Amino acid sequence: MAFVILKPKRDPSLLRRHPWVFSGAMAKIRGKPDPGETVDVVSPRGTWLGRGAYSPRSQIRVRIWTFNEDEAVDEAFFRNRLERALASRRDLVRRQHLTGYRVVNAESDGLPGVIVDRYDDYLVCQFLAVGAETWKDLIVAQLKALIPVEGIFERSDSPVRDKEGLARRTGILAGKEPPETIAFQEGTHRFWVDVRQGHKTGFYLDQRENRLELYGLADGAEVLNCFSFSGGFSVAALKAGARHVTNVDMSAAALELSRRNLTLNDLDPGRVEHVEADVFKKLRYYRDAARRFDLIVLDPPKFADSRAQLSRASRGYKDINLLAIKLLRAGGYLFTFSCSGLMEPELFQKIVADAALDAGRDTQIVKRLNQAADHPTALNFPEGHYLKGLLCRVG
Ligand code: SAH
Repeated sequence: MAFVILKPKRDPSLLRRHPWVFSGAMAKIRGKPDPGETVDVVSPRGTWLGRGAYSPRSQIRVRIWTFNEDEAVDEAFFRNRLERALASRRDLVRRQHLTGYRVVNAESDGLPGVIVDRYDDYLVCQFLAVGAETWKDLIVAQLKALIPVEGIFERSDSPVRDKEGLARRTGILAGKEPPETIAFQEGTHRFWVDVRQGHKTGFYLDQRENRLELYGLADGAEVLNCFSFSGGFSVAALKAGARHVTNVDMSAAALELSRRNLTLNDLDPGRVEHVEADVFKKLRYYRDAARRFDLIVLDPPKFADSRAQLSRASRGYKDINLLAIKLLRAGGYLFTFSCSGLMEPELFQKIVADAALDAGRDTQIVKRLNQAADHPTALNFPEGHYLKGLLCRVG
Protein backbone atom coordinates (compact mmCIF):
# COMPACT_ATOMS: atom_id res chain seq x y z
CA MET A 1 0.00 0.00 0.00
CA ALA A 2 1.26 3.48 -0.82
CA PHE A 3 1.89 5.77 2.10
CA VAL A 4 2.02 9.45 2.88
CA ILE A 5 4.67 10.88 5.20
CA LEU A 6 3.74 14.03 7.10
CA LYS A 7 5.99 17.00 7.74
CA PRO A 8 7.47 17.28 11.24
CA LYS A 9 4.97 18.46 13.87
CA ARG A 10 1.98 18.00 11.59
CA ASP A 11 0.66 14.92 13.38
CA PRO A 12 -1.36 16.47 16.27
CA SER A 13 -4.61 16.73 14.34
CA LEU A 14 -4.43 13.08 13.28
CA LEU A 15 -3.56 12.05 16.83
CA ARG A 16 -6.79 13.81 17.81
CA ARG A 17 -8.48 11.77 15.08
CA HIS A 18 -9.37 14.66 12.84
CA PRO A 19 -10.07 12.91 9.52
CA TRP A 20 -8.50 15.41 7.09
CA VAL A 21 -4.87 15.63 5.94
CA PHE A 22 -4.22 18.90 4.12
CA SER A 23 -1.76 19.09 1.23
CA GLY A 24 0.45 21.48 3.23
CA ALA A 25 0.95 18.88 5.97
CA MET A 26 2.43 16.31 3.58
CA ALA A 27 6.18 15.88 3.18
CA LYS A 28 6.38 12.96 0.72
CA ILE A 29 4.44 10.19 -0.80
CA ARG A 30 5.79 6.66 -1.34
CA GLY A 31 4.23 4.80 -4.24
CA LYS A 32 1.90 6.07 -6.95
CA PRO A 33 -1.64 5.85 -5.60
CA ASP A 34 -4.56 6.44 -7.95
CA PRO A 35 -7.21 8.96 -6.95
CA GLY A 36 -9.36 7.38 -4.23
CA GLU A 37 -6.88 4.60 -3.49
CA THR A 38 -6.35 3.69 0.16
CA VAL A 39 -3.06 4.95 1.64
CA ASP A 40 -1.47 4.82 5.09
CA VAL A 41 -0.44 8.06 6.72
CA VAL A 42 2.68 8.05 8.89
CA SER A 43 4.70 10.58 10.90
CA PRO A 44 8.27 11.51 9.81
CA ARG A 45 9.51 8.90 12.30
CA GLY A 46 7.33 6.24 10.73
CA THR A 47 4.59 6.11 13.39
CA TRP A 48 1.35 4.87 11.83
CA LEU A 49 -1.39 7.51 12.15
CA GLY A 50 -4.31 6.56 9.95
CA ARG A 51 -5.56 5.00 6.72
CA GLY A 52 -7.57 6.92 4.20
CA ALA A 53 -8.47 7.83 0.65
CA TYR A 54 -5.89 9.69 -1.41
CA SER A 55 -7.23 12.70 -3.32
CA PRO A 56 -4.51 14.27 -5.48
CA ARG A 57 -6.63 17.18 -6.75
CA SER A 58 -8.05 18.35 -3.44
CA GLN A 59 -6.51 20.53 -0.73
CA ILE A 60 -7.80 17.81 1.57
CA ARG A 61 -5.28 15.31 0.24
CA VAL A 62 -6.31 12.36 2.41
CA ARG A 63 -9.63 11.65 4.14
CA ILE A 64 -9.12 9.08 6.87
CA TRP A 65 -11.34 6.01 6.83
CA THR A 66 -9.86 4.41 9.95
CA PHE A 67 -7.58 5.23 12.88
CA ASN A 68 -7.26 1.54 13.73
CA GLU A 69 -4.15 0.00 12.17
CA ASP A 70 -5.69 -3.47 12.21
CA GLU A 71 -8.79 -2.40 10.28
CA ALA A 72 -8.70 -3.00 6.53
CA VAL A 73 -10.71 -0.77 4.22
CA ASP A 74 -12.81 -3.37 2.45
CA GLU A 75 -16.34 -4.68 2.09
CA ALA A 76 -16.64 -5.57 5.78
CA PHE A 77 -15.44 -2.10 6.76
CA PHE A 78 -18.19 -0.37 4.79
CA ARG A 79 -20.85 -2.80 5.95
CA ASN A 80 -19.86 -2.15 9.58
CA ARG A 81 -19.94 1.61 9.19
CA LEU A 82 -23.31 1.56 7.44
CA GLU A 83 -24.79 -0.81 10.02
CA ARG A 84 -23.49 1.41 12.80
CA ALA A 85 -25.04 4.51 11.22
CA LEU A 86 -28.38 2.77 10.80
CA ALA A 87 -28.39 1.37 14.32
CA SER A 88 -27.64 4.78 15.84
CA ARG A 89 -30.81 6.21 14.27
CA ARG A 90 -33.20 3.34 14.87
CA ASP A 91 -34.69 4.68 18.12
CA LEU A 92 -35.02 8.22 16.79
CA VAL A 93 -36.81 7.01 13.67
CA ARG A 94 -39.23 4.91 15.68
CA ARG A 95 -39.86 7.49 18.41
CA GLN A 96 -40.44 10.41 16.05
CA HIS A 97 -42.28 8.39 13.39
CA LEU A 98 -39.95 9.37 10.58
CA THR A 99 -40.01 8.04 7.06
CA GLY A 100 -37.58 10.79 5.98
CA TYR A 101 -34.25 11.14 7.78
CA ARG A 102 -30.50 11.18 7.26
CA VAL A 103 -29.05 7.68 7.29
CA VAL A 104 -25.36 8.55 6.86
CA ASN A 105 -23.80 11.89 7.77
CA ALA A 106 -20.37 11.66 6.14
CA GLU A 107 -17.29 12.28 8.33
CA SER A 108 -19.40 12.32 11.51
CA ASP A 109 -20.49 8.74 10.78
CA GLY A 110 -16.97 7.66 9.89
CA LEU A 111 -17.68 7.75 6.15
CA PRO A 112 -16.00 10.88 4.73
CA GLY A 113 -17.80 12.28 1.70
CA VAL A 114 -20.81 9.95 1.94
CA ILE A 115 -24.30 11.37 2.55
CA VAL A 116 -27.38 9.15 2.47
CA ASP A 117 -30.89 10.46 3.09
CA ARG A 118 -34.01 8.35 3.15
CA TYR A 119 -37.32 9.58 1.79
CA ASP A 120 -39.93 6.90 2.31
CA ASP A 121 -39.12 4.09 -0.16
CA TYR A 122 -36.11 5.79 -1.74
CA LEU A 123 -32.56 6.60 -0.72
CA VAL A 124 -30.80 9.67 -2.09
CA CYS A 125 -27.01 9.67 -1.93
CA GLN A 126 -24.23 12.18 -2.39
CA PHE A 127 -20.66 11.03 -3.00
CA LEU A 128 -18.66 14.18 -2.39
CA ALA A 129 -15.03 13.01 -2.32
CA VAL A 130 -12.95 10.82 -4.58
CA GLY A 131 -12.60 8.12 -1.89
CA ALA A 132 -16.37 7.92 -1.52
CA GLU A 133 -16.69 7.80 -5.32
CA THR A 134 -14.21 4.92 -5.54
CA TRP A 135 -16.29 2.77 -3.18
CA LYS A 136 -19.62 3.92 -4.54
CA ASP A 137 -20.79 0.67 -6.17
CA LEU A 138 -19.97 -1.35 -3.09
CA ILE A 139 -21.67 1.16 -0.77
CA VAL A 140 -24.78 1.16 -2.98
CA ALA A 141 -24.89 -2.66 -3.02
CA GLN A 142 -24.68 -2.73 0.76
CA LEU A 143 -27.33 -0.05 1.22
CA LYS A 144 -29.59 -2.15 -0.98
CA ALA A 145 -28.98 -5.19 1.20
CA LEU A 146 -29.42 -3.31 4.50
CA ILE A 147 -32.43 -1.11 3.76
CA PRO A 148 -35.53 -2.37 1.96
CA VAL A 149 -36.22 0.45 -0.52
CA GLU A 150 -37.60 0.68 -4.05
CA GLY A 151 -34.70 2.63 -5.44
CA ILE A 152 -31.46 4.47 -4.79
CA PHE A 153 -30.87 7.82 -6.48
CA GLU A 154 -27.68 9.87 -6.77
CA ARG A 155 -27.47 13.65 -6.29
CA SER A 156 -23.71 14.10 -6.61
CA ASP A 157 -24.23 17.49 -8.28
CA SER A 158 -22.66 19.56 -5.52
CA PRO A 159 -19.89 22.01 -6.53
CA VAL A 160 -17.60 20.41 -3.92
CA ARG A 161 -17.15 17.57 -6.44
CA ASP A 162 -15.23 20.01 -8.65
CA LYS A 163 -12.55 20.43 -5.97
CA GLU A 164 -12.05 16.66 -6.01
CA GLY A 165 -11.68 16.52 -9.78
CA LEU A 166 -15.00 14.68 -10.07
CA ALA A 167 -17.69 15.42 -12.63
CA ARG A 168 -21.11 16.21 -11.21
CA ARG A 169 -23.62 13.40 -11.61
CA THR A 170 -27.30 12.82 -10.99
CA GLY A 171 -29.21 9.64 -11.74
CA ILE A 172 -30.44 6.27 -10.72
CA LEU A 173 -28.00 3.99 -8.85
CA ALA A 174 -30.20 0.99 -8.11
CA GLY A 175 -33.78 -0.21 -8.35
CA LYS A 176 -36.64 1.92 -9.60
CA GLU A 177 -36.63 5.47 -10.88
CA PRO A 178 -38.13 7.66 -8.11
CA PRO A 179 -41.43 9.42 -8.86
CA GLU A 180 -41.36 13.16 -9.58
CA THR A 181 -42.17 13.89 -5.95
CA ILE A 182 -42.03 11.56 -2.99
CA ALA A 183 -44.20 12.02 0.11
CA PHE A 184 -42.65 11.27 3.47
CA GLN A 185 -43.54 11.77 7.10
CA GLU A 186 -42.02 13.47 10.13
CA GLY A 187 -44.33 12.69 13.00
CA THR A 188 -47.55 14.56 12.21
CA HIS A 189 -45.98 16.53 9.34
CA ARG A 190 -45.98 15.25 5.78
CA PHE A 191 -43.90 16.66 2.97
CA TRP A 192 -43.40 16.30 -0.74
CA VAL A 193 -39.78 16.19 -1.81
CA ASP A 194 -38.44 16.60 -5.32
CA VAL A 195 -35.28 14.54 -5.17
CA ARG A 196 -34.19 15.60 -8.68
CA GLN A 197 -34.54 19.38 -8.44
CA GLY A 198 -34.68 20.12 -4.70
CA HIS A 199 -31.60 21.48 -2.92
CA LYS A 200 -28.99 19.03 -1.66
CA THR A 201 -30.88 15.72 -1.62
CA GLY A 202 -34.20 17.54 -1.89
CA PHE A 203 -35.26 18.64 1.58
CA TYR A 204 -34.00 20.30 4.77
CA LEU A 205 -34.17 17.34 7.11
CA ASP A 206 -31.66 19.11 9.33
CA GLN A 207 -34.35 21.62 10.44
CA ARG A 208 -36.77 18.96 11.73
CA GLU A 209 -36.32 19.66 15.44
CA ASN A 210 -36.39 23.41 14.88
CA ARG A 211 -39.73 23.14 13.07
CA LEU A 212 -41.12 21.62 16.28
CA GLU A 213 -39.99 24.68 18.24
CA LEU A 214 -42.82 26.61 16.59
CA TYR A 215 -45.36 24.70 18.67
CA GLY A 216 -46.36 26.81 21.62
CA LEU A 217 -45.07 30.01 20.00
CA ALA A 218 -47.02 30.24 16.74
CA ASP A 219 -50.55 29.87 18.11
CA GLY A 220 -52.62 32.77 16.75
CA ALA A 221 -49.50 34.37 15.26
CA GLU A 222 -48.97 36.21 12.03
CA VAL A 223 -45.86 34.51 10.63
CA LEU A 224 -43.30 35.56 8.03
CA ASN A 225 -41.25 32.66 6.67
CA CYS A 226 -38.26 34.02 4.73
CA PHE A 227 -36.37 31.72 2.35
CA SER A 228 -39.30 29.37 2.79
CA PHE A 229 -38.28 26.79 0.15
CA SER A 230 -40.90 24.01 0.21
CA GLY A 231 -42.55 25.41 3.34
CA GLY A 232 -41.24 23.16 6.11
CA PHE A 233 -41.53 25.88 8.75
CA SER A 234 -44.89 26.99 7.36
CA VAL A 235 -46.50 23.59 7.76
CA ALA A 236 -45.30 23.49 11.36
CA ALA A 237 -46.47 27.07 12.04
CA LEU A 238 -49.96 26.36 10.68
CA LYS A 239 -50.28 23.08 12.57
CA ALA A 240 -49.17 25.00 15.65
CA GLY A 241 -52.13 27.34 15.16
CA ALA A 242 -50.67 30.30 13.24
CA ARG A 243 -53.38 32.69 12.06
CA HIS A 244 -51.55 33.54 8.83
CA VAL A 245 -48.25 32.67 7.14
CA THR A 246 -46.39 34.59 4.45
CA ASN A 247 -43.83 32.55 2.53
CA VAL A 248 -41.11 34.49 0.71
CA ASP A 249 -38.78 32.73 -1.71
CA MET A 250 -37.38 33.65 -5.09
CA SER A 251 -37.95 30.19 -6.51
CA ALA A 252 -41.35 29.65 -8.11
CA ALA A 253 -40.81 25.87 -8.05
CA ALA A 254 -40.12 25.93 -4.30
CA LEU A 255 -43.29 27.97 -3.68
CA GLU A 256 -45.30 25.55 -5.79
CA LEU A 257 -44.09 22.62 -3.71
CA SER A 258 -44.90 24.63 -0.62
CA ARG A 259 -48.51 24.98 -1.85
CA ARG A 260 -48.72 21.26 -2.42
CA ASN A 261 -47.37 20.65 1.08
CA LEU A 262 -50.33 22.57 2.50
CA THR A 263 -52.80 20.27 0.76
CA LEU A 264 -50.84 17.21 1.83
CA ASN A 265 -51.26 18.30 5.44
CA ASP A 266 -54.96 19.25 5.10
CA LEU A 267 -54.11 22.88 5.83
CA ASP A 268 -56.22 25.80 4.65
CA PRO A 269 -54.42 27.54 1.74
CA GLY A 270 -56.45 30.65 2.59
CA ARG A 271 -54.22 31.15 5.61
CA VAL A 272 -51.09 31.37 3.46
CA GLU A 273 -49.69 33.95 1.07
CA HIS A 274 -46.92 32.95 -1.32
CA VAL A 275 -44.59 35.72 -2.39
CA GLU A 276 -42.04 35.16 -5.13
CA ALA A 277 -39.44 37.79 -4.32
CA ASP A 278 -35.94 38.60 -3.10
CA VAL A 279 -36.05 38.53 0.70
CA PHE A 280 -33.61 41.47 0.98
CA LYS A 281 -35.98 43.62 -1.06
CA LYS A 282 -39.22 42.31 0.39
CA LEU A 283 -38.12 42.98 3.98
CA ARG A 284 -37.43 46.61 3.01
CA TYR A 285 -40.82 46.79 1.35
CA TYR A 286 -42.52 45.54 4.53
CA ARG A 287 -40.49 48.03 6.58
CA ASP A 288 -41.57 50.93 4.38
CA ALA A 289 -45.17 49.70 4.43
CA ALA A 290 -45.02 49.42 8.27
CA ARG A 291 -46.09 45.77 8.14
CA ARG A 292 -45.70 43.86 11.43
CA PHE A 293 -45.43 40.19 12.29
CA ASP A 294 -45.51 38.09 15.47
CA LEU A 295 -42.99 35.50 14.38
CA ILE A 296 -40.32 35.58 11.67
CA VAL A 297 -38.18 32.73 10.35
CA LEU A 298 -34.92 33.62 8.60
CA ASP A 299 -33.30 30.51 7.14
CA PRO A 300 -31.19 31.75 4.24
CA PRO A 301 -28.97 29.67 1.97
CA LYS A 302 -25.27 29.40 2.75
CA PHE A 303 -23.86 32.94 2.46
CA ALA A 304 -20.18 31.90 2.81
CA ASP A 305 -18.45 29.13 0.88
CA SER A 306 -14.95 30.29 1.80
CA ARG A 307 -13.23 32.41 4.44
CA ALA A 308 -12.82 35.17 1.88
CA GLN A 309 -16.62 35.50 1.70
CA LEU A 310 -17.09 35.70 5.45
CA SER A 311 -17.22 39.46 5.85
CA ARG A 312 -19.67 39.82 2.96
CA ALA A 313 -21.75 37.03 4.45
CA SER A 314 -21.71 38.79 7.83
CA ARG A 315 -23.11 41.93 6.24
CA GLY A 316 -25.86 39.86 4.62
CA TYR A 317 -26.86 38.26 7.94
CA LYS A 318 -26.74 41.63 9.70
CA ASP A 319 -28.96 43.19 7.05
CA ILE A 320 -31.77 40.64 7.12
CA ASN A 321 -31.70 40.24 10.90
CA LEU A 322 -31.87 44.00 11.44
CA LEU A 323 -34.82 44.32 9.10
CA ALA A 324 -36.61 41.31 10.61
CA ILE A 325 -36.18 42.51 14.19
CA LYS A 326 -37.72 45.85 13.23
CA LEU A 327 -40.73 44.09 11.71
CA LEU A 328 -41.57 42.16 14.88
CA ARG A 329 -44.29 43.23 17.27
CA ALA A 330 -43.27 43.56 20.93
CA GLY A 331 -42.92 40.07 22.39
CA GLY A 332 -42.46 38.58 18.93
CA TYR A 333 -40.13 35.74 18.08
CA LEU A 334 -37.27 35.53 15.61
CA PHE A 335 -35.96 32.17 14.41
CA THR A 336 -32.68 33.04 12.76
CA PHE A 337 -30.24 30.59 11.20
CA SER A 338 -26.89 30.28 9.49
CA CYS A 339 -25.99 27.07 7.68
CA SER A 340 -22.51 28.26 6.72
CA GLY A 341 -20.06 26.00 8.50
CA LEU A 342 -17.47 28.77 8.38
CA MET A 343 -19.69 31.10 10.38
CA GLU A 344 -18.80 30.34 14.02
CA PRO A 345 -21.72 30.38 16.47
CA GLU A 346 -20.07 33.19 18.48
CA LEU A 347 -19.73 35.39 15.42
CA PHE A 348 -23.29 34.66 14.34
CA GLN A 349 -24.57 35.61 17.78
CA LYS A 350 -22.55 38.83 17.66
CA ILE A 351 -24.08 39.72 14.28
CA VAL A 352 -27.60 39.19 15.60
CA ALA A 353 -26.72 41.21 18.71
CA ASP A 354 -25.47 44.08 16.52
CA ALA A 355 -28.66 43.88 14.49
CA ALA A 356 -30.82 44.10 17.64
CA LEU A 357 -28.74 47.01 18.90
CA ASP A 358 -29.13 48.92 15.65
CA ALA A 359 -32.84 48.14 15.62
CA GLY A 360 -33.05 49.57 19.14
CA ARG A 361 -34.89 46.50 20.46
CA ASP A 362 -34.10 44.61 23.66
CA THR A 363 -33.71 41.04 22.52
CA GLN A 364 -33.14 37.80 24.40
CA ILE A 365 -31.96 34.41 23.25
CA VAL A 366 -34.61 31.97 24.38
CA LYS A 367 -32.95 28.92 22.89
CA ARG A 368 -29.96 27.94 20.78
CA LEU A 369 -30.89 25.79 17.82
CA ASN A 370 -28.89 23.18 15.96
CA GLN A 371 -29.10 20.58 13.23
CA ALA A 372 -31.31 17.58 14.02
CA ALA A 373 -30.08 14.45 15.81
CA ASP A 374 -29.77 12.42 12.61
CA HIS A 375 -27.11 14.97 11.54
CA PRO A 376 -24.71 14.32 14.44
CA THR A 377 -21.29 15.96 14.79
CA ALA A 378 -18.42 13.65 15.66
CA LEU A 379 -16.38 15.27 18.45
CA ASN A 380 -13.22 14.73 16.41
CA PHE A 381 -14.83 16.62 13.50
CA PRO A 382 -16.17 19.98 14.75
CA GLU A 383 -16.61 21.13 11.13
CA GLY A 384 -19.59 18.77 11.06
CA HIS A 385 -21.59 21.33 13.05
CA TYR A 386 -22.78 23.69 10.32
CA LEU A 387 -26.37 24.64 11.17
CA LYS A 388 -26.84 27.00 14.06
CA GLY A 389 -29.75 29.15 14.99
CA LEU A 390 -31.02 31.48 17.65
CA LEU A 391 -34.57 31.61 18.87
CA CYS A 392 -34.92 35.18 20.08
CA ARG A 393 -37.66 37.10 21.84
CA VAL A 394 -37.81 40.71 20.79
CA GLY A 395 -39.00 43.23 23.39
N1 SAH B 1 -36.05 27.30 5.19
C1 SAH B 1 -36.08 26.26 4.20
C2 SAH B 1 -34.74 26.07 3.53
C3 SAH B 1 -34.17 27.29 2.90
S1 SAH B 1 -33.09 26.97 1.59
C4 SAH B 1 -36.58 24.97 4.82
O1 SAH B 1 -36.69 24.89 6.04
O2 SAH B 1 -36.86 24.05 4.06
C5 SAH B 1 -32.85 28.54 0.93
C6 SAH B 1 -34.00 29.06 0.08
O3 SAH B 1 -33.73 30.43 -0.15
C7 SAH B 1 -34.15 28.45 -1.29
O4 SAH B 1 -35.45 28.00 -1.46
C8 SAH B 1 -33.83 29.58 -2.29
O5 SAH B 1 -34.69 29.56 -3.43
C9 SAH B 1 -34.11 30.78 -1.45
N2 SAH B 1 -33.36 32.00 -1.75
C10 SAH B 1 -32.04 32.16 -1.89
N3 SAH B 1 -31.71 33.46 -1.98
C11 SAH B 1 -32.88 34.16 -1.88
C12 SAH B 1 -33.22 35.54 -1.89
N4 SAH B 1 -32.28 36.48 -1.99
N5 SAH B 1 -34.51 35.88 -1.77
C13 SAH B 1 -35.47 34.93 -1.67
N6 SAH B 1 -35.21 33.62 -1.64
C14 SAH B 1 -33.93 33.23 -1.73
